[in-house]
Formats: sequence, C-alpha cells, structure tokens
Amino acid sequence: MGGRKRGEVVNAELARIEDDLKAQVDALFVAKAYGRARNWAGDLGFECDSYQVLSRLHPELKPLPDQTLLKIFRASGTWETPNLDLIKRAEGIFIQEQGRPFEWPEKQISGKVDGKIGFRTKIMTDEELKKILPSWAERKRVPLEHKALSPNTFRTVKKLKAEGGSLLKAKYGWMQKYPGQLVSYELMDGSEFGVWFFFEKVMGDYFFWIEPLDYAYGETLIARAERTNDAVRVNTVPAPVLTDLCDGCDFERTFCFTGKDFGAGYDIRVDELEMNETIRRFLELKPIVKEYGELEDEIKALKGKNCLFADYTLKWTPYKMPKMIPSLDKIDCFRMKIEPLKK
Ligand code: SF4
Repeated sequence: MGGRKRGEVVNAELARIEDDLKAQVDALFVAKAYGRARNWAGDLGFECDSYQVLSRLHPELKPLPDQTLLKIFRASGTWETPNLDLIKRAEGIFIQEQGRPFEWPEKQISGKVDGKIGFRTKIMTDEELKKILPSWAERKRVPLEHKALSPNTFRTVKKLKAEGGSLLKAKYGWMQKYPGQLVSYELMDGSEFGVWFFFEKVMGDYFFWIEPLDYAYGETLIARAERTNDAVRVNTVPAPVLTDLCDGCDFERTFCFTGKDFGAGYDIRVDELEMNETIRRFLELKPIVKEYGELEDEIKALKGKNCLFADYTLKWTPYKMPKMIPSLDKIDCFRMKIEPLKK
C-alpha cells in the first residue's frame, strides 16, 4: 500500500487545508479589553498624565492589540518560567515569589513582579558587596523582572548598559517603561535595588542588569500616580499635550488628536493591504539593516588582520583597483572572508 506524494493531489487544496489549520490556531489569539481600577506599575513610567488617566477612565478607547502583537507577547511570555527555572539552578542565586502581585493601596498602584531574587557572588566578600549595595544581604530577595527581547533590541539594551546609559533614554517608548516598573516594585517592596534579566529569544543569550533605586525618579512616579488619582476622582482627563510620545500612542487617534489632518495631496489607497504589508515589513527590517551596517563597520575595523575567533576565521585578501582609476591606486583594498569553524 503505497502512500501518495504531494504532487498527486491538488496542491492548492492541500494549501487550503494548511491555511485552515493555521486559522484554527490563530483563532486562539483573541485580544480582550480590560479596564484598570489602579495605576499599573508597568505603565507608570509613561510620562503623560492624559495617558495615565485615560487608561483608567476610558480603557475602551485603547485599540486592542492585533494578532501579530499577541503572538509576540506569547513568544516573550513563554520564556519566563523556563528561564527562571534555569536561574534557580545556579549555585549562588535564589528566586522566590514568582508572579507575586504587588499593591500600594494608598497610591493606588498595582502590579505583578516576575519574581524576587537573592544572590551571593564569588568575586566579592559580603563586606565588599555591601559597600556597593548597602541593603544587600544574603537572604534578602529583591524584585526581578524578566524581559525577553528580539536580537536587535537585545543588542540595543546591552550596548546601552555597556555605555553606562539608562533605559529611560531607550529609543522605544515601551522600553522606557521598564525603569518605571522596576522602580515601582522597589518602592513597594522597600528594596534599594532591583534586577532585570534580559534574554535574547533567538540565540538564547542573556545578561543581568542591577538597578539601584533612584529616589528622585521614584518620587516622579509617585507624583504621577497621585495626580492621576486626583483626576480619576473628579472624572477629568488632563488636556493632551503634543509630545514625541504621541506618535503611535494608543489614545492618539481615539481621544487626543482625533481630527488629525493628513493634509491635501494624498492618493487614498487604504484598500491596498498588500502594499500596506510591504511598508510594514520595510519598517520592520529598517533597524536590522542599520544594525547590519554597524556590525560590518566593527568587523572592518580589523581590515588586513587575519583573525581566529571562537567560532569563525576572518581573512583579508589584498587586491588592486583597476589602473584606469589612478586616484584609487594608492588605496589598500581587501576582500573580506568569514568562515565558520567546523565543530
Ligand atoms: S496621544 Fe499624546 S497626549 Fe494623548 S495620551 Fe498619548 S501621549 Fe498623552
């Protein structure tokens, strides 16, 4: 009894069935609208009072995330438990209270911390460690936030950290919320520092980032929560102020700038979904292309030096420019070749 090859049945029909199977799984991705009775720690770092108040008074004006976004949320979330389980197996690290809800009734702030972490380090004595983190104690657990990122954003955060930067200055608005969230948990927990665990979703790389409590910044978060509470009490949304944060904000088109005029001279093509998708993909790839160029520049700084790395050889072959361009004759030209080492 021989099986049939795919070519023996109508490929298009199989493709229809495959699409239907995918659609059945896709149907599981349904965004739910939900309001909030309190200020969310994860959002409190967003520096717009209108946003904070609208999130509580008019959550129905927040567009629901589309399936692409819901799949990204799921892909990021699925890493959390396995990663925390992995960290717990490390000799000097302890994690407890995973998914612990936090509540600060007086300021009406709530949230759910990914876990609380305690640690020892082999490179310092307890006394040395306390000089850097005064509240450190071996049994003390502080808030831990797990963040799973794409390779591109992971590199961006890693670079920012290496350069001594702050996530408050990160290029994406959603990333600027990270400090607000962690600092809120530090305040609610009475911890003088907190920890991020950043994870790269493709290659599985990771790093820790310890964030001492910045009291001045913490006070701005509390003040924002108090202003929001006052506005919610009197059911009044503060007047929107146009800033860089507005571009792409959830409430930009539904409340704050509903009559946004795109001006004359547009060829209206809102039905051309394929081109819309092409543009979306173009914008998605743009930062990757930029990163490719930056990496190429870093590698080309080694021009002329043959190198052996852990996984690759880097070789340079000199060549001459064509004689008909005399001005280029004196330039050292090299062809770059990278080969992976066979393991
Ligand atoms: S559109 Fe601008 S003013 Fe309105 S909520 Fe968003 S960030 Fe605030």
